[in-house]
Amino acid sequence: RAKESGGNTYSVYSKSIQKLNEAKHKIHSNLHKAIEREEFYLHFQPKIDLTSDKINGVEALIRWENQELGQMSPVQFIPIAEESGLILPIGEWVLRIACRQNKAWQDAGFPPIVMSVNLSSIQLQNEHLVRTIGQILRETELDPQWLEIEITESMLLQNTQHTMKVLEEIKELGISISIDDFGVGYSSLSYLKHFSFDYLKMDKSFIDNLNMSPKDELIISGIIKLAHSLNMKVIAEGVESSEQLSYLREQGCDGVQGYLVSKPLSAGEFIERVWLLPKKMEL
Ligand code: C2E
Ligand code: MG
Ligand code: MG
Ligand code: MG
Repeated sequence: RAKESGGNTYSVYSKSIQKLNEAKHKIHSNLHKAIEREEFYLHFQPKIDLTSDKINGVEALIRWENQELGQMSPVQFIPIAEESGLILPIGEWVLRIACRQNKAWQDAGFPPIVMSVNLSSIQLQNEHLVRTIGQILRETELDPQWLEIEITESMLLQNTQHTMKVLEEIKELGISISIDDFGVGYSSLSYLKHFSFDYLKMDKSFIDNLNMSPKDELIISGIIKLAHSLNMKVIAEGVESSEQLSYLREQGCDGVQGYLVSKPLSAGEFIERVWLLPKKMEL
């Protein structure tokens, strides 16, 4: 009996692994055709500068709507795109569309803002990255000062010397660089000595517990002091309540992003809510 149930446990386990692999395979085969089928689009989440209380930036976030799989979250498909190398053409697509959109807003006469794009470690390790970015900037005619890339701490652990060189080259193009999800990566802080980033983005997990956890409050105020003493600005991600906002303001945080201000918006919604009714977005 025991043997039997052991056997069953094993087969349930291997079946669920098999199911997982099938699901992954399905995502991968659909992902392969997603660019040409025009299934990707971007959403845009505003970033608010706490000195002026106005929008000074926006983060581009990829979305995927597939006929068979429905709406897929980037949390689900980005890792599969990374494993398969598809992240390279997908990441290039994101950069191009984000730059094109930002330039189109400027051409329409809206005040210029910085557009942030998330980079994957695979892109950062790719030898063509800097050339690709340069080409996209020329092609879209976007001034590099209006482009920012977001990388995570763990990306700085890989191939450090090469990575630092690439980051220098990106900076030389005139693009800003920020550290995303700051504080949760398995990384040492020593990289902060070797490179000067424009922004640290404090991870949402610290923001979530503000006003409930004195330790998280101390971590947040500590990160803000650290960033400022190293001449970097600091922004909080995932800000959902006005209580969180007031604490961040008190501590001198430079910017916020989160549902309190706005969810990520489609390009159409962005025009309506940000450009045509900007008062609604001010804090
Ligand atoms: P991220 O770069 O840290 O982006 C922030 C995520 O938090 C976004 O989820 C955003 O919609 C969500 N968010 C923002 N404010 C709030 C809030 O107040 N509350 C809550 N609960 N969530 C909030 P999203 O769009 O699902 O993206 C998830 C992750 O997928 C991103 O995390 C990023 O790591 C990755 N990602 C998204 N787009 C791209 C892309 O174009 N390229 C790459 N390589 N990764 C991307
Ligand atoms: Mg990000
Ligand atoms: Mg983040
Ligand atoms: Mg995060």
